[in-house]
Amino acid sequence: RRKANQEHALEPAVTTDGMRMEILGNIGGVRDAAQIAKLGGEGVGLLRSEFLFMERSDAPSEEEQFAMYKAVAEAIGPGHPIIIRTLDVGGDKPLPYLPIPKEDNPFLGERGIRVCLDRPEILRTQLRAILRAAAFGDISVMFPMITTLEELRDAKAILVEEAANLNLPPVPAGIMVEVPATAVMAAQFAREADFFSIGTNDLTQYALAMDRGHPKLAPKVDGLNPAILKLIGHTVNGARSAGKRVGVCGGIATDASAVPLLIGLGVDELSVSLPAIPAVKAQIRTLSMDACRKLAEAALAAESADDVRALVRNAEREPS
Ligand code: PEP
Ligand code: MG
Repeated sequence: RRKANQEHALEPAVTTDGMRMEILGNIGGVRDAAQIAKLGGEGVGLLRSEFLFMERSDAPSEEEQFAMYKAVAEAIGPGHPIIIRTLDVGGDKPLPYLPIPKEDNPFLGERGIRVCLDRPEILRTQLRAILRAAAFGDISVMFPMITTLEELRDAKAILVEEAANLNLPPVPAGIMVEVPATAVMAAQFAREADFFSIGTNDLTQYALAMDRGHPKLAPKVDGLNPAILKLIGHTVNGARSAGKRVGVCGGIATDASAVPLLIGLGVDELSVSLPAIPAVKAQIRTLSMDACRKLAEAALAAESADDVRALVRNAEREPS
């Protein structure tokens, strides 16, 4: 099967009733970027830029970052979207040169955009590098852990200012939807964000109040919990109300049981780990939009993640 998936990898992922899904890759740097095209990825849905900041004794300079983003753009080639997420540290991802005072609850503390808005020079440097690299590819920026509209406005204001300083047009600015409050407020966020990418890893941990890395709780931290599916569906509806696109870049997008549900909930694109790209595309070619919508509707009414998984298994047995 793997070989068959690989043979068709370069063809688009179109459902049996003609709906085209965009399949992108999650990457950590230039080396991954070079792999995407041959695996059939249509671009980068999530560049976790924090990897460029790790295993170093100081933050990468604007020139270093520019060179890396430019190299990614050149590896991906023209016409393919590249979504660069701004530095997402704190919580489980500490940096030696960016000390965050010890917190009782790091996942509820200074994380993601909160760290960058508190130290705007880091964000400004990164945004300048991204804006300059945008001359070499279809680059957008994405802010992590956005919780309030004020954070989005502050981050966008910095982007617009740095673009003006450089005499360059600002790049599109999207947000990660990974905090439940943001999913609930999706319609308000959709008026001001250019796109959404749902981070189901954090969205699930925060909605269920269960640490995503907890050894005992891990099996229950399941993005197929109907509570999470409702948040995803609500986020999609909010995005639609303002005509914005929604992707999913959390690990759930790689779960074969989740793929038909996400499509049925109306997600436009999936961004997955690179080795998963051919299989996700192959699976989508076997699905019908109509059946996915019905399945998603049934899942939203289910009582538990286990019930949802059983619904998906039953649907797989029926010809669509
Ligand atoms: C997520 O939270 O789902 C996500 C994609 O971001 P990360 O796993 O890097 O926190
Ligand atoms: Mg996250």
